[in-house]
Amino acid sequence: MEDSRIRASYRQMVVDAGNTMVAMNLTVGTWGNVSVRDRETGLIYIKPSGMPYDEITEQDIVVMNGDFEVVWGTRKPSIEYHFHISIMNARDDVNAVIHTHPIYSSAFGVTGQEIPGISEDFVQLVGDKVINAEYSLPGTPDLAVNVVKALGDRNAVLVPNHGTICVGTDIPMALKVCHVVEKSAHVYILSKTLGTPQIISTEDMRAMQDFARNHYGQGK
Ligand code: 13P
Ligand code: ZN
Repeated sequence: MEDSRIRASYRQMVVDAGNTMVAMNLTVGTWGNVSVRDRETGLIYIKPSGMPYDEITEQDIVVMNGDFEVVWGTRKPSIEYHFHISIMNARDDVNAVIHTHPIYSSAFGVTGQEIPGISEDFVQLVGDKVINAEYSLPGTPDLAVNVVKALGDRNAVLVPNHGTICVGTDIPMALKVCHVVEKSAHVYILSKTLGTPQIISTEDMRAMQDFARNHYGQGK
């Protein structure tokens, strides 16, 4: 049955973001996943489970509602639909969720360390730091609960011994968050080999966040 709420453009956004994530070296194989919410209908478009990114077409995307039900599509949705939908339900400002299996930020998840605020882009876009969620097996409703709790109002969270989750108002922003988190993790590790990394003060973080929100960019 045709469902007039379903939009091909949103399905294509998920396909394109998956390929971008691979091109940015932020995941391997079929791991990682992407979702986007259409604000007009509240429907969430998510990647199919376990398919190579270069083989996914917009026909393979699965559309779900906020009650975790499939409303369109023939594929099995990503096993991580629990946390994708739970994040959207908890955060009205979030319309895109990207889960990656990256190198440098994963090292923080493996050692149970947080990524501190060490650079301007990170504190403006992501938050004061990125912390680890409590451990849970992939694809479980428990993982979704732990992820939502540790994400709070920041734009990224680490999943211990697994990967990273980044969020944004739209897919370009969520991809940018993924990029900045991974860059910061890399810089922090390099900085530790050179000396003692300096963390930005809480006061300066607030000033930068205020600047980014109210003044940075054209037309503000
Ligand atoms: P899916 O292929 O089901 O999206 O799972 C990949 C993954 O990263 C699980 O955490
Ligand atoms: Zn994963």
